[in-house]
Order: sequence, then C-alpha cells, then structure tokens
Amino acid sequence: MRVAGRGSVLAGLMLLAVLLPAAGCGGGGKAVAAGKAPAKLLVIGLDSADFTLLDPLMAEGRLPHLKAFRAQAASGRMQSFYPLEKSPLLWASICTGVMPAVHGIDNFVKGDEEKPVTGSAWRAPAIWDIIGAAGRTTYVGGMWVTYPARPIKGVMVSDYLPYGSGRERPLAGLVSPDSLTDNVVACRVDPQSFTPAQLARFFPQGVDVVSLEKQYPEQFQQLRNIWAADLGYLAVARQVKDQHADDLFFFYLRGPDMISHGFYHYRAIAPADWHRDPAERAAFTELVPRYYDWVDEAVGEVLSWFPADHPTVIVSDHGFHGPRNQGKGTVEHAEYGIFMVRSPLYVAGGNIARVKLMDICPTMLALLDLPPAKDMPGAIVAEALSPMGQGRVPHIEKNRVTSYLALRPATVGQGETDEKVDEEIRKQLRSLGYIK
Ligand SMILES: [Zn+2]
Repeated sequence: MRVAGRGSVLAGLMLLAVLLPAAGCGGGGKAVAAGKAPAKLLVIGLDSADFTLLDPLMAEGRLPHLKAFRAQAASGRMQSFYPLEKSPLLWASICTGVMPAVHGIDNFVKGDEEKPVTGSAWRAPAIWDIIGAAGRTTYVGGMWVTYPARPIKGVMVSDYLPYGSGRERPLAGLVSPDSLTDNVVACRVDPQSFTPAQLARFFPQGVDVVSLEKQYPEQFQQLRNIWAADLGYLAVARQVKDQHADDLFFFYLRGPDMISHGFYHYRAIAPADWHRDPAERAAFTELVPRYYDWVDEAVGEVLSWFPADHPTVIVSDHGFHGPRNQGKGTVEHAEYGIFMVRSPLYVAGGNIARVKLMDICPTMLALLDLPPAKDMPGAIVAEALSPMGQGRVPHIEKNRVTSYLALRPATVGQGETDEKVDEEIRKQLRSLGYIK
C-alpha cells in the first residue's frame, strides 16, 4: 500500500477535524466550532491488571478508586494476543494501533551481547506522534522501549529513569525536553530509603518486617526496587501535570506486573503443595493484592488531578494468573487484561463484552476526536455507547484516514551506553523471564 506523505496526512487530519461532529452536540453532525477546546484524554496503564484478581478485592471493599471509576465507566475484559506475548510488544501495539510486524517492537535485547533495544526501534508512530502532528501535547512516562526519550510535542520520560542511579551524572536522554531532566531525576526514589514501617503495608499485620527482610533479602530487594520505580514515576507525573502536556496524559505503572512475577506464585500454589517454609508463604501470599491497594491509591491520586468527568481510559496489556505449566514451559501472563473507559461517548456502568488489544488505539484516538487509520486492524469500541457515542463512533469509523505511518518518528540516536545500566536492565528482564 502506498503510504501517504506527511503533508497529506496532516491535511487529512485537519479536514477530519471539520468533518467530525463536536462532542457535546449529541452526535448531531454539526461541524466543530472554531476555537472549541480539543478533547483531552487521561490514560492509566496498569501492566498486567486482571479482573480475576481485582474483582474479588473490589467485592471485599478494597480498591475504592478503581471501583468508583468502574461505576463511572464502561468496562470489560480486554482480549490480549494469544499465544501470550510480552509487555513491550503489547504496549507498542496499544500505543501505535498496528501489529508488531509493522511497529517493530518485538524483542528486548539484540545481538550476542544482549544490548537492550532502544527507542530507535519504533517503526510506526505512537499515538503521541499522531496527536503531536495535529498540534496536541502528550505526557508519557515509563513506557517500554523509550530510551533515549525522543522529542515529542510534550514530555517523554524514558523507562530508564530508575536505572543508573549510582552514576555521577544521569544518563543522557532520560527526559525530553532535556530542560526537565534535573526536575525529573530529583523525583527518583531510592529503594533503600523505605523504612520497615513503610514496607509493613505489604505484609500481614503483626509481621516483624525487620527480621523478615533479614531472612528474605532477595524478595525484599525486589519489592523495594519495584515500589521505588513506581513511586518515582508517580512523583514525575505529579511534577509534570502542570507543564501543559496533557491533551493526552499517559500514566503507566510497570510495577503491578513485576510484583506479580515476583510474588504471585505464593498465591497460586495451594498450601498443601507448598514444600518450603510455610512461614515464607504466609508472609508473602498477600503481597500482590496489598500492592494493588497501593496501586489503587496511586490511581486515585492521578484521577484527582483532573476534573471528575475527565475522559479517561484505564487499561492493561494482558492478565496475570500466576505460574502454571503450559506446553513447553511455565507461563504467568493470561489472555485477558482490563479495559475501562469513562467518557460521554460510553454508558456509565456499561458492559463491554468484546474488546481486543488492537481496539485500544483506535478507541483512544476517537476519544481525542481523531480518526483511526485504515491500516489499524482494530475497531473503535462500539459497545456500551451512549446516545452521543452512537452518533459519533460510526461517523468516526467511516472517516478513517488512510495511514499515519508517514508520521513515524525520525530516527533517534542510541542514547548513552553504560554497560552497568545495560546489566541492570538485563537483570530485570531475566527476573521477568523475558530473557535467559
Ligand atoms: Zn509480565
């Protein structure tokens, strides 16, 4: 297929802004009034969140912010790729709306030296490139394969922020624009700074956290590293929220997945099948749900930065059911993640029976008043539509642009190479089972 040049893609975008009926017009087909504020969207990405885990917790009265949000949103299980895939590939598919063969993010290290793949690997534009071309801004932080952070219209904070904290100078290219680097780096949280009192929230009441850490230093280091990284990105988002990079505000937490890789097995194994120290199992079995209690607090804080009816999507890239044998080996991810959308286009409390991973990008674009492209295989979610959504969604679907591929990022550099940082990353990828 012929890929349209950048100029004609932009012309198409501008034409569409005129064709699309404005939000708030009840889908009546009126042209967008000149000067109407462009639609904004908050996206909260929770890596590996799964209703199989969240539903029982909400039923217990836990996760109050996610539960309240769900009541305001249309929601359903999100069908991810099968065979199961890894998070970088899945998030790149969510962010670009095209398949891995097109966007190119399908591996995490390359060559015999296992060099981590860098941001130059993206061969398709992400949603921030697409809306940036339409003059709109994005904040995105911590997304996979975003080192070095490349110039976008808005702010990008690389997923390398937690690494190399022992260096004298931060790695070049952690943040774009560069001018925010000092502020962003100052948001890093030192994993060793947590006190036993702070860590106690992840353990059953009455557990002596100090002696438990002495007994299980590896597990504690993992918890410290994961929570510090997530808290760091929360602090970054808190700092950047006032930078006017919020047409699309993309807040992402990797920790829920990493915590699950580290600790879900304590839940997944029945007590009778547990052959190690029962005290160990008892100490860690509640850690994943307790981590989600914290995630819920973080979600509540991020939601509180925006108006109570701010259009918002909360989404994961896959589910998580804990380790189980499947064919060739052990798998931990699961096929169904979560999808929730709060918008005037969807019915509050509505049920979405079928949403696939490739539908997420077209839906996010529609929520931003932009059409998906014809070369995006997914569809705008068309269930649980409000009367306004029934007017608008078919109209946006009918007016797809040919392709956004011409907006793919200009090649970015390789950033700075630091063998110690690369090894930190390989260590993390190994702990996730992504590399050997
Ligand atoms: Zn994972």
